[in-house]
Amino acid sequence: MKRVNKNNYHQRFAEHLMSRICRQAQIPNIKIEVKELRRGGRAVLHNRYISIPLWANRTKEYFIYYVIHEITHFICSYCGHNMAFKLKEQEICKRYNIAIEYSKAYPKRLLRHDTGQLICGKYGYST
Ligand SMILES: [Zn+2]
Repeated sequence: MKRVNKNNYHQRFAEHLMSRICRQAQIPNIKIEVKELRRGGRAVLHNRYISIPLWANRTKEYFIYYVIHEITHFICSYCGHNMAFKLKEQEICKRYNIAIEYSKAYPKRLLRHDTGQLICGKYGYST
């Protein structure tokens, strides 16, 4: 009998999101890895590699936001976390009904885009 691997589930969900977002942005796929990390994930542009910490799955929407944030670094390379970056990040998040309330580069809160309902507050780090 096949054991359900929680990590594998998140890995496959991240890959699914990545391929969809990259296709829509018309950029090549990026290698994405969901794993135990104490702090934040990373986007390594020259290796086309993203790591996502397992703790990002505190809510499904936060996990989606996290994947979008890292992929936006590839769409908007060399933007840092400037306004162009944030506009692109928000545009993609909106497709998943997620709105970001920023505190500098990272969300203070995530809200439902349509109703403004609170999804979650600030959790940990992201790069
Ligand atoms: Zn970042």
